[in-house]
Amino acid sequence: MSPIDYRQLYIGGHWRDAATSATIDVQSPSTEDIIGSVPRGSEADIDAAVAAARAAFDDPDGWSTWHPKLRAEVLEKFAAELEARGPETAARVSMQNGMPIWLAQQFEAGFPPLLLRYYSEVMNGAPIEEERAGMLGGTALVSRQPIGVVGAIVPWNVPQGISFLKIAPALAAGCTVVLKPAEETVLDAFLMAEAAAAAGLPPGVLNVVPGGRDVGAYLVAHPGVDKVSFTGSTVAGRAIAETCGRLLRPVTLELGGKSAAIVLDDADIAGSIESFFGATLLNNGQICWLNTRVLAPRNRYADIVDTITALASELTIGDPLDPATKIGPLVSRRQRERVEGYIAKGKQEARLTTGGARPAGMSRGWFVEPTVFADVDNNAVIAREEIFGPVLSVIPYSDEAEAISIANDSVYGLGGSVWSSDSARAANVARKVRSGTVGVNHYVNEPVAPFGGVKDSGMGRELGPEGLAAFQVYKTIYLPPAQ
Ligand code: NAD
Repeated sequence: MSPIDYRQLYIGGHWRDAATSATIDVQSPSTEDIIGSVPRGSEADIDAAVAAARAAFDDPDGWSTWHPKLRAEVLEKFAAELEARGPETAARVSMQNGMPIWLAQQFEAGFPPLLLRYYSEVMNGAPIEEERAGMLGGTALVSRQPIGVVGAIVPWNVPQGISFLKIAPALAAGCTVVLKPAEETVLDAFLMAEAAAAAGLPPGVLNVVPGGRDVGAYLVAHPGVDKVSFTGSTVAGRAIAETCGRLLRPVTLELGGKSAAIVLDDADIAGSIESFFGATLLNNGQICWLNTRVLAPRNRYADIVDTITALASELTIGDPLDPATKIGPLVSRRQRERVEGYIAKGKQEARLTTGGARPAGMSRGWFVEPTVFADVDNNAVIAREEIFGPVLSVIPYSDEAEAISIANDSVYGLGGSVWSSDSARAANVARKVRSGTVGVNHYVNEPVAPFGGVKDSGMGRELGPEGLAAFQVYKTIYLPPAQ
């Protein structure tokens, strides 16, 4: 296949030369070949993109002032252009980060148009301005204003899905956006820019500047930015929060996790194995909310360890573009080294039941076998730190109270799940888990409900009407008492 090369950046509604001739070269995690390149954004490109977004936002007749129904018409065209490119988007993501293609079709091709339509509906579903009879004689006009120019910074693991958790509500609210994709996944972002251009998004409403963490940090601190929305590691989130704190700049942070799947003693894991796989090992273990700690009751411990071991050992490992593949490669050599470091640690700390090595006969690509450790102590490094690979830790517990206490004994609080043949019982346990989201017998990010973390997993929420509110600010006009 010939490489996908872009020579210009999408800024201010046009394709234009980057400020420098540096490039980002994308390496396939399966074949290790270079599969494409884009210009590497620099500070000067961020300046140009923020200026374009600023001008679009401040235009007195521009995007931010349009009736939401007019914006919805453009966003519908954007959704349709994305759909037309859906198969190509899914393939590009798979080729760049190793996401199995069937998952890329859902998360990367399917989710973005769905979110654009959903947020247009939410925006149009509530009045922009509300009149409140005052207690002091006057009337208050309370409106929800778009917050301004948004700096959106995203990771490589679910690049399109995560980008649209930000872009869809921001644009529906009337904000303008500068998106900084991760260096590993840029080719999908440029395809998305092509869709935006084809849809007729007004110039400057959406701008894309790829680059590394320096460029990201520059965007966060840029004086032309009104709001930062970040998804990525807790370490980077902390640095971004510090900058935003100093600047008094609103920020939403979706960070790391070490979520727990609590398997109750009446659970039928074997009977819901697809859902269990989805909650624990999806995307080669590279999703922030994955339930990588599995808490199993002592009275069924051996049986549950066996079921999970069988699940992990039977997954088809291979080319992410092959629809039969359940586990593709990790995103990069660096990521595999990191994951292998944790596996080595796990071998000292716990009992390996399957995996723990590179798959036999695969000499190219950053593959790692799905790996399960049993008899893990919740204080072990592999139970405390986010690994971001296909590695599960099974931790025994004696009763429900202990399971909840182990689940909550983490610096993170992003996802989680409870498994039981009694959903009401499971929901009661779920209520006691200190986390932003918990699934019962499955885990999905439901678009209508808020998603986000507590503790080191971040602050603020995406999805649901709450995800729109993150891009709005209230404004009150006090009307005088009637004469
Ligand atoms: P990362 O934090 O290193 O990078 C994420 C993005 O932030 C990239 O675009 C990167 O260039 C940029 N960046 C890094 N440091 C920055 C800084 N100081 N200032 C501004 N931008 C900066 O994360 P990663 O290793 O690429 O991604 C994996 C991490 O993302 C995991 O920890 C995972 O849990 C987390 N994640 C969280 C969610 C969520 O919704 N909570 C979703 C996906 C991934």
